[in-house]
Amino acid sequence: MAARLQPGSDVQYLKGVGPGRAEMLAARAIRTIEDLLYYTPFRYEDRTRTTPIRELIPGQTTTVLAEVLTAGPVRTRRGTYIFDLAARDDTGILRCKWFNAAYLEKNRVFRPGQRVFFFGKVERDPFGTGNLQMLQPQFEILAEEKTEGGESLEVGRIVPIYESIGRLTPRVLRHLLWNALASTDGQVVECLPRSVRERNQLMDRSTALRLTHFPEPDTPLDQLATFRTSAQVRLIFEELFNVSAGLLLRRRRAQSVEGIRFQVTDSARQAIRRILPFHPTGAQKRAIREIVADMCSPRPMNRLLQGDVGSGKTIVALQAAIVAIENGYQVALMAPTEILATQHYLSIRQLLEPLPYQLDLLVSSRKPAEKATLKQRIAEGGLNLVIGTHALIERDVEFARLGLVIVDEQHRFGVLQRYQLIRKGRPPDVLVLTATPIPRTLALTLYGDLDCSVIDELPPHRSPIVTRLLSERERPQAFEWIRQRVRRGEQAYVIYPVIEESDRLELQAAVRMHEHLARNVFPEFRVELLHGRLPSQEKDRVMRAFKANEAPILVSTTVVEVGVDVPNATVMLIEHADRFGLAQLHQLRGRIGRGPGQSYCLLVAGDARTEVASERLNALVETADGFKIAEMDLKLRGPGEFFGTRQWGIPGFRIAQLLRDQDILEWARREAAEFLSHPGSPEEFESYVAYLRAAWPRRYGLSSVA
Ligand code: ADP
Ligand code: MG
Repeated sequence: MAARLQPGSDVQYLKGVGPGRAEMLAARAIRTIEDLLYYTPFRYEDRTRTTPIRELIPGQTTTVLAEVLTAGPVRTRRGTYIFDLAARDDTGILRCKWFNAAYLEKNRVFRPGQRVFFFGKVERDPFGTGNLQMLQPQFEILAEEKTEGGESLEVGRIVPIYESIGRLTPRVLRHLLWNALASTDGQVVECLPRSVRERNQLMDRSTALRLTHFPEPDTPLDQLATFRTSAQVRLIFEELFNVSAGLLLRRRRAQSVEGIRFQVTDSARQAIRRILPFHPTGAQKRAIREIVADMCSPRPMNRLLQGDVGSGKTIVALQAAIVAIENGYQVALMAPTEILATQHYLSIRQLLEPLPYQLDLLVSSRKPAEKATLKQRIAEGGLNLVIGTHALIERDVEFARLGLVIVDEQHRFGVLQRYQLIRKGRPPDVLVLTATPIPRTLALTLYGDLDCSVIDELPPHRSPIVTRLLSERERPQAFEWIRQRVRRGEQAYVIYPVIEESDRLELQAAVRMHEHLARNVFPEFRVELLHGRLPSQEKDRVMRAFKANEAPILVSTTVVEVGVDVPNATVMLIEHADRFGLAQLHQLRGRIGRGPGQSYCLLVAGDARTEVASERLNALVETADGFKIAEMDLKLRGPGEFFGTRQWGIPGFRIAQLLRDQDILEWARREAAEFLSHPGSPEEFESYVAYLRAAWPRRYGLSSVA
């Protein structure tokens, strides 16, 4: 019998895990046995019975257990590389083929005599031999290895299939999970409140974990495949309940404190009227009404202002700022990058020109002496509005009377940062601006603790951007097109993909591109270069030059994707568009189409682009609706890639998948709200909150609950 372990024990103590494997697991944030228990299969294979080769039917998807006869690469007449394998059982021969699978050859995966499970769709060999084949089947080489109890984890059961972790294959993981369950048997403590579990008839946690990894033989396979067995549902519910409860608790706490009660004074109304450069759209008016109502209430505002790129969030936020300033408070506006902070500063300074406000820009690139003076003026209350990056405002800046914090996150979520700020003394009102059209489910989890205003209408007289997908060969024409627009006085962006600004090679490519364009393609124009690693004075100079149309063409990395506002720019050419996510391309594209002129977005994608890539990019050609694009992106790439990483404040879900589990999310959220207001007993409430407080930061990667 395996040694008894606690769920909280280090995963190294588990049989089969040494320092090497522990390190691989740690790379996936699996450090304890409990972490490992939540590493759930991504699919299951029914090996309660395998199909004899003679009984295979074309079209059927099934598992075959057969012995390898031959395996090796073949080349078709057209030069395609195919890895071909023949295997037999007592009843016949099956061929399997893989495309682009040189690793099978290189790693010498298959050898004659091995017994292998093949899982896939059965097809007739197109070359008329009458033989059956599987194209690209999943496979697992049978190890004939048994558990201590003499059970096979590979044959004669519904087998869980895990995603490999480093060199840990699905099979190794299966054994580790088996050991983990055996060694902690009965010791995984229930975490959901009893009243919630009973009301919703949810399975207990230990059983749910066991059955999710090793389902009973009679479990319906379609339920398993859709993650809807009672065991899986229980675990998904648990995760979404905990996240929802955590966010709701946080919101409750934020609302329990006394905030500032602003008033909409006549002077504020007049000030707003003096600066408004245009008539607000209906959606803008609605948003400002909601924001001002929050500001006037005694509870601190925690509101999200969501609106697609170019929907006009800035002016709405500015109206809120004016209300705060006219009430004698200071306002801080934080942006994710220095470039964006500087942009905001330049355009807001212009907008606020008619008003006697003191405003300034606090970014790290300013001289130390200037920064010191600035901080002094902030502390003394001499500045009404401070614009800067997140970092600076958090660190050591003391405000005399901070009343409103505007966080321009665009699409970089900073759930953590918001709360650090609020912890500082008396809570100011907080308004978060975001341009990422977040599908509703994600909005609930990300911003479940915020109220939300949506600007769902673009300012008038915007002609939709014309988007075109071009091949490499069409690039010269695209450049010619840019030349014509620029001759007419319009401006253009050329965007180069630098995913990591720290990646020197990528950056060099952008630099070379700039040289090439400046020297060879557009010698008659001034072409500037912008990227994240330029010294900030240089960035500043470049942005100003572009804004003033001294330089009509700007070669840039994605640093321009947020917030840059140059209405005279009407063309954007995006190189290697297939390397970007759709949502990101949509953000980039939002930099044009900001003025009355017709704008054009040219997506250049490599000729080797896959069909999937073209389909993705076509979505962009066909719709300008950020919500639709975001949904599609999310579907195609999953939330992980969609958002990049956890640093954006997305809870790191282990089993829940937001798109698949929308229904469970809504259910879990309702139950969490119900539990928090009507717990089974005060003790139940206390112990659940204690659990959450302990588990929250580790499990969901979010800051503390309460
Ligand atoms: P975003 O929501 O992306 O931050 P901005 O606030 O930068 O959008 O606004 C985009 C552009 O639209 C700006 O040039 C702004 O001056 C203009 N704009 C905003 N609201 C209106 C409006 N109601 N009518 C006309 N133009 C507007
Ligand atoms: Mg903006």
